[in-house]
Amino acid sequence: MAELESVIGLEIHAELKTNTKIFCGCKNSFGAAPNSQICPVCMGLPGTLPRLNSKVCDYAVKMGIALNCEINKVSRMDRKNYFYPDLPKAYQISQSDIPICGKGSLDILVNDKVRTIGITRIHIEEDAGKLIHDDEYSGTLCDLNRCGVPLIEIVTEPDIRSSEEARIFLENIRSILRYIGISDCKMQEGSIRCDVNVSMHEKGTPLGVRCELKNVNSFSAAVRGIEYEIKRQTAIIENNGQIERETRRWDDKKGVSILMRNKENAQDYRFFPEPDLGAVVISDERINALKAEIPELPNKKMIRYVSEYGLNYFEAFMIADVPDKAELFEHCIKTGKCSHRSAANRIVGEITKYVNDTGKSVSETMLTANELAELCHSAEKGVISSSSAKIVLLELLSSGGSTENIISRLGLAQNSDDEYLSKLADEVIADNKRSVDDFKNGKTNAIGHLIGQAMKLSKGKADPQKIKEIILNKLKTEE
Ligand code: ADP
Ligand code: MG
Ligand code: ZN
Repeated sequence: MAELESVIGLEIHAELKTNTKIFCGCKNSFGAAPNSQICPVCMGLPGTLPRLNSKVCDYAVKMGIALNCEINKVSRMDRKNYFYPDLPKAYQISQSDIPICGKGSLDILVNDKVRTIGITRIHIEEDAGKLIHDDEYSGTLCDLNRCGVPLIEIVTEPDIRSSEEARIFLENIRSILRYIGISDCKMQEGSIRCDVNVSMHEKGTPLGVRCELKNVNSFSAAVRGIEYEIKRQTAIIENNGQIERETRRWDDKKGVSILMRNKENAQDYRFFPEPDLGAVVISDERINALKAEIPELPNKKMIRYVSEYGLNYFEAFMIADVPDKAELFEHCIKTGKCSHRSAANRIVGEITKYVNDTGKSVSETMLTANELAELCHSAEKGVISSSSAKIVLLELLSSGGSTENIISRLGLAQNSDDEYLSKLADEVIADNKRSVDDFKNGKTNAIGHLIGQAMKLSKGKADPQKIKEIILNKLKTEE
């Protein structure tokens, strides 16, 4: 049997951060007291009528533009019928045959190569409420605050080939949602969730039968779920078994998927057009206005950082994932004062650490792109040592000011004064007889210890290249 290949398609739900819900004026806010953000419309009381929030359409169209989708200028809302206690109307208003956005694609970087993943569609729909199974209360509680929170569902083509590719795809989607400002993507608050479809086939043959995993609540759960399914399905196929079309529930704690329903008891949602809402119509002017609001997107930035600036994927992701980090990087480079490498190293390293430690965003720190460029320049030119550069950077982040002033105020300029360095070298040679002897006996790396001592004595201010030359000269002439 030829090698089996895994095939993955994702259905991603993202909550949109509009002020109000999709069909009523209730606030769209997370964490309010249970059943405090509800009205007759989102409670699904008979006789109420929905009104579509136009912001929801704007946000979905923006995502469609970001994912190169065809935008359907006329689309339709449909009822998806099913019963569950968190859905009082017993139907969800969604989009079936004509979604707001049709086919599109997203380029992502996988192992330094660009991969294009097809997007099948993006549609808008309402979220359901939440059931709370509380141990202290023998029974189940129902919170309807989430009923009517707007969602977009992004469906991909079965173009993804590994769990790693799925993870990178999801990271890119999350990054784009944040860039265009339509979703918070807080996994812990359930604002982005996905269903994962997995099948196996021999390369070059038609796609195999897929299983769909539900209840995947984090990106790492998606990766684990996919890997589990690949193993489970491979074992069945290798034992000459057949994969059945199934919906399975992912239990992330136990790390297993469990059968929920198979083909025989598949749900029939009896979709039909929503009679209480008209067609969703979007004009060319509105589409163009939304287009104009979209900045260069993080997946494009990542590809550019890797191909033009020689960063690796991890570095490119770390910088491009957050808009203000990307802005700092690009403005810093634009000054022409420092190398891409040194700017990238500082952003991925100390700046990211500072931001994580303090809980601030890059734009909330006191650092400006121009001063970062000055700092990188000073370090590259040897005006300050690399350890002093760290001190200056911390000062720039926490208090601001200019690189030049901080260097002189803290007395960090490297000393390349010949007389000072010569005296320093004499002192080090006199105090470190053993290293000097080692060196004379051919242990050339003993010089490292002597330079280290010189740096220590000078509190990091000696120019390391110069002091090395001077010590070497002195040791040679002493012989
Ligand atoms: P449903 O509405 O039942 O969820 P769809 O046709 O909308 O079915 O497909 C849902 C997802 O399943 C899409 O993301 C698609 O890429 C994926 N998919 C379809 N066929 C396969 C397959 N053979 N292997 C893996 N994923 C698949
Ligand atoms: Mg599905
Ligand atoms: Zn309401």
